[in-house]
Amino acid sequence: MNVLITNARVIDPSQELDGTFDILIEEGTVSRVDKKIKASGVETIDATGLVATPGFIDIHTHLREPGQEHKETIATGTRAAVAGGYTAVCAMANTVPPNDERAVTEMVLAEAARNGLCRVYPIGAVSKGLKGEELAELAELRAAGCVGVSDDGKPVWNAQLMRRALEYCSMLGIPVIAHEEDANLNEGGVMHEGYYSTLLGMRGIPAVSEETLVARDVLLAKATGAHVHIAHLSTAGAVDAVRRARAEGVRVTCEVTPHHIALGDETVQSFSTNLKMNPPLRSEEHRKAVIAGIADGTIDAIATDHAPHHFDEKNVEFDLAPFGVIGLETAFAVCYDRLVRTKVIGLSRLIDLMSCSPARIFNLPGGTLRKGSLGDVTLLDVEARYEVATPFQSKAANSPFVGEKLQGRIAATLVGGAIRYDARPKSETPAPRKTAKKAK
Ligand SMILES: [Zn+2]
Repeated sequence: MNVLITNARVIDPSQELDGTFDILIEEGTVSRVDKKIKASGVETIDATGLVATPGFIDIHTHLREPGQEHKETIATGTRAAVAGGYTAVCAMANTVPPNDERAVTEMVLAEAARNGLCRVYPIGAVSKGLKGEELAELAELRAAGCVGVSDDGKPVWNAQLMRRALEYCSMLGIPVIAHEEDANLNEGGVMHEGYYSTLLGMRGIPAVSEETLVARDVLLAKATGAHVHIAHLSTAGAVDAVRRARAEGVRVTCEVTPHHIALGDETVQSFSTNLKMNPPLRSEEHRKAVIAGIADGTIDAIATDHAPHHFDEKNVEFDLAPFGVIGLETAFAVCYDRLVRTKVIGLSRLIDLMSCSPARIFNLPGGTLRKGSLGDVTLLDVEARYEVATPFQSKAANSPFVGEKLQGRIAATLVGGAIRYDARPKSETPAPRKTAKKAK
């Protein structure tokens, strides 16, 4: 695939690049980023007015296939991904059956190659059957293509098992991704434990439930010298634990989700089941601590925890609904709106959090537009305002952001130089913004 992107404002934090450039992609890889590139026989994309960045990488996606194709498939999940500017996603292991053996990893990779619109990097299970009793065949999972291991959806409750997983993964050169909650402290909880859970009479999930396990795993990472990655961190104490451990040289990285950045537990008063996820939306104190962690560099990545559910599954009482919300298609706009427009961070830092840093911490290709790197590019229209509306490209619609007016949308997504999503106005002369329609 040979493509020339012209006149874009190229922002590539991996090489501290920010300026107007052309990008030439030849045979799937970046061959040049320069002023006014002349190339013949290539498809040209005029990106005047758009920002070009290394493709976004989501290190925490639930694609639901195999086994729960009524919620999402690899085809629809990756369609949602490219609509959100993602050129790669890491697929969590809690499918049915879980990705705890080579055959499942290979099935995911084969289906992604057949019907996926972006790159898919499988994450293997820590334990067989996600039961937390016996380690999965970690070396075999790694050899089959897993880029990390996680029992996500559940914590690894047994500290000895976690220690062994860290030791093995350290040898394999991959992180253990930790979903942190103490099941005893959380028992029956459906929302953050605090003022609003008391007001609404709902069982709470206390912040300390997350913090005790983060503290434990940071200590285990220190003891083993291994890399632990904390998934969807959501509390002030967890941010603090990571900050302190990092200062001591512990190999700990962490991610936060757009919904924990944007929303607090007061929103649960609407009883919308699209505000039910785990970890839950926290109180203002915790939300502010997470944002402070983004501003000071403690947080390494923004990851969606895209968790699609069928409409019927979410269309029940709050107590009974499954945890999780979708996020791939709204992540950039939510973060642009809540972090960049509000001047918490600059656009370059947001791109780092959504692309370069995820690649770096999980050791993935991409996350850069250096010569010779993958031709994965996201084109952004940061001026465009739009209202989040259904249907989504995802099979699911359980988003807490439907009806919200946000700024910053994805104009196009290229994977290996191929246009996999294109929402640019179709006409030759650019349509006025107000009437610009999303293509397809
Ligand atoms: Zn999780």
